[in-house]
Amino acid sequence: MSLKKMRQVFYDNETFAVVSHINPDGDAIGSSLALCETLKKMGKKVHMFTEGAIPIHIRFLWDDSYITDTPLEKYDVCVALDSGNKDRFSSFESLFDSAKTTLCIDHHITNTYNYADINYVEGDASSTGEIMYELIKNVLEIPLDKKTAEYLYCAIATDCGTFKYSCTSAKTHRVVAELMDEGIDVNYLSNYLFDYKTINQIKLYSEGANNLRLYEDGKIALTYVDYKFLDKMGVSFDDADYLVTMPRTVLGSEVGVYIKVKNDNEIKVSYRSNDYVDVSALAMELGGGGHKKAAGATVYGKTLEETIDMVVEGIRRVL
Ligand code: AMP
Ligand code: MN
Ligand code: MN
Repeated sequence: MSLKKMRQVFYDNETFAVVSHINPDGDAIGSSLALCETLKKMGKKVHMFTEGAIPIHIRFLWDDSYITDTPLEKYDVCVALDSGNKDRFSSFESLFDSAKTTLCIDHHITNTYNYADINYVEGDASSTGEIMYELIKNVLEIPLDKKTAEYLYCAIATDCGTFKYSCTSAKTHRVVAELMDEGIDVNYLSNYLFDYKTINQIKLYSEGANNLRLYEDGKIALTYVDYKFLDKMGVSFDDADYLVTMPRTVLGSEVGVYIKVKNDNEIKVSYRSNDYVDVSALAMELGGGGHKKAAGATVYGKTLEETIDMVVEGIRRVL
């Protein structure tokens, strides 16, 4: 499916809703804001819908002017961004279904559902933000500006781990070069997006390090934090995510697992792999999804130890 097919939908309609996945990350927020800015320039009416807290590291870029208390009853178009399936934008599902035309722009390889009228899923793209650049610049042919470039940088740089992950391509760098031509300050953006942490977030690191467990001769590295500790530290469930890559940085590990116990019934499992294990398949077995080297799932009704046993057993089978 070509992205070009979406051009007329954007030009021929007037009211737009932009949705992305629950508990948004830099890609979901950055891509959504970049699209909202662009649609505003095109003279369209656009509302953005997001559910869950804006993570602390992207709050400096956050603009709530597209959020509304009075959504339209029906939008001409609803655009779903960075959402591998419809469950991912939970409470906006009916808003999405009621739109005259629905679009999906995404980069999750597990997104095979074709849930929108027009779907563009590019599994090789580093981020939805990289696809949004293509859409804005080459399909809609709307010039970028500094603000839009900052949003796209946030989307791209966060999802490809500051250009370290294997999803980073030569094209990713070319796109970022174009963003830099718009005058973005990469050092300023990177400080907020990647380096600054609250003191209690930093203290969380030692909790994660203390709880680290190794299995299968260290090929599996796993750690966890629970809500009681997070509550004590005043760190939100989502802001604890910056620890997500820590387990897989243990030398010799192939799969790193980061587990967050949200409450006595709900546990978030994040998988990261270093080389050959396809963690999206493991996450899908637990009802989640994602990418080959980064995936996640939410487990209900199990204890922490039961979850750990299940996760470790799943990985053992594919090591
Ligand atoms: P996370 O571990 O939450 O950082 O997620 C890693 C990747 O997996 C991201 O691209 C997410 O969009 C995806 N992902 C996480 N949780 C789920 C889920 N429950 N269902 C589908 N995809 C998920
Ligand atoms: Mn995302
Ligand atoms: Mn993404």
